[in-house]
Amino acid sequence: MTQIKGRAVVLGASMAGLLAARVLAEFYPQVLVIDRDRVIGVRTSRRGAPHTVHAHGLHARGQLNFEDLFPGLLQELRDAGVPTGDLGEMRWYFNGRKIRPARTGLISVTAPRPVLEHHVRSRVASLSNVKFLEEYNILGLTASDDAAQVTGVRVQHRSDNATPELLEADLVVDATGRGSRTPAWLEEIGYQRPREERVKVGLAYTTRHYRTRPEWFDGVQSINPVASPAHPRGAFFGQVAPETCILSLTGILGDHPPTDPTGFLEFARSLPVADIYEAIRDVDALDDAVSFRFQASVRRHYETLTRFPQRLLVLGDAVCSFNPVYGQGMSVASIEALALREHLRRGAVPHPLAFFADVAHAIDTPWEISAGGDLDFPGVEGRRTVKVSVGNAYMARLQYAATKDSRVTDGFMRVAGLVDSPESLMRPAMVARVLRHAVRRPGPGPSWLDTAR
Ligand SMILES: Cc1cc2nc3c(=O)[nH]c(=O)nc-3n(C[C@H](O)[C@H](O)[C@H](O)COP(=O)(O)OP(=O)(O)OC[C@H]3O[C@@H](n4cnc5c(N)ncnc54)[C@H](O)[C@@H]3O)c2cc1C
Repeated sequence: MTQIKGRAVVLGASMAGLLAARVLAEFYPQVLVIDRDRVIGVRTSRRGAPHTVHAHGLHARGQLNFEDLFPGLLQELRDAGVPTGDLGEMRWYFNGRKIRPARTGLISVTAPRPVLEHHVRSRVASLSNVKFLEEYNILGLTASDDAAQVTGVRVQHRSDNATPELLEADLVVDATGRGSRTPAWLEEIGYQRPREERVKVGLAYTTRHYRTRPEWFDGVQSINPVASPAHPRGAFFGQVAPETCILSLTGILGDHPPTDPTGFLEFARSLPVADIYEAIRDVDALDDAVSFRFQASVRRHYETLTRFPQRLLVLGDAVCSFNPVYGQGMSVASIEALALREHLRRGAVPHPLAFFADVAHAIDTPWEISAGGDLDFPGVEGRRTVKVSVGNAYMARLQYAATKDSRVTDGFMRVAGLVDSPESLMRPAMVARVLRHAVRRPGPGPSWLDTAR
């Protein structure tokens, strides 16, 4: 492997930062990963990553890429009691209807997110040339006098009265998540900020954990009534450990699941399907509910900039944070990490704009799926191009057809899992299967409350 001189510094020790550090360690003699939190050995949600208390699935493409970067990780997780299963064999509901299960061969890992992160971080920390700098605030970057290249990072330990320190770097990778300061910092040193695309969804997750009862899941790993325009309230109810399950309720456009026990239960009752409410109505949760608000999906178009300082890269949520209900963020971060590896294999520090072109390529399809899918909700603002409208009209038919035909489920899950491209759903054989069941756009499935009356 071609070695590159010097030290690579990764900003942020969450999932994107860890994946980047793993790749950089193949090429740099020294990799330093900085985070404001204590992270080593931590298996619970932490202040710098509060979203990690909520349901997180590592779906197909991510699972494959994580395994590539950390051979044996899947078995390690299974040995640690993490539930894994076929993505197509979960109990999925779309538009209030259960789709047919399908054996896709694609694995989904539903570890508590901090536990998954802990396993990944332990692997990265075991690499002899990687060091973690914990409990350090990242204050900013330093650049050469002509601002042509980044030269280091200013940091400060979080203890009282700590003096700011300067860390020299031959490459800086910003993986500080959606709050990344790179756009502001670029402006400060005379560059343009990247253009930002936003799709406002006004989403919130509210989450509690329960002791699992065997009858709840009946052999499936999770029960997921996914939000649709007619049934905009959704949920992820899944096993996260042999005896523990998580319930994340989701509501959009300001219709947020409450945190008080009565309101939480009522929200679960209002889901279109009964499974979740029936399971939890008479049991005590293991914890209080916590909520996380996600106002908008945000995509920063670094690839369209014409000038950018050398020796600085950005990846993960810092470039694009997707509506989380589509479960894409960790998978996309892994695709970007593999793209970084391809650039480093050329034997030199990656050219930022060339790297961003590949990052944009990695983001295009998942963004089309999630931001495009969100525009099917009439209350979500945004430009509905013909492609988006036709795509959503077809997806509604396809999801209906999946309630009748497991081959359609298989094709759908391969795309949702970022393994196949959306074009695969437009192949004549698939279109014929879809239209056999749904020539017109199907109306919503009835809510269980309507049928129970
Ligand atoms: C509610 C929710 C549910 C989700 N569910 C899924 C899912 O099911 N599947 C999936 O694949 N993805 C999911 N995601 C997305 C996923 O969490 C992210 O894509 C993933 O964590 C990668 O993020 P990241 O590492 O880029 O940033 P983050 O996870 O935000 O991490 C940023 C890190 O940088 C550190 N940091 C930031 N600023 C500073 C600073 N100034 N100084 C020092 N340290 C700093 C933070 O402490 C943190 O550790 C979900 C997201 C949310 C919000």
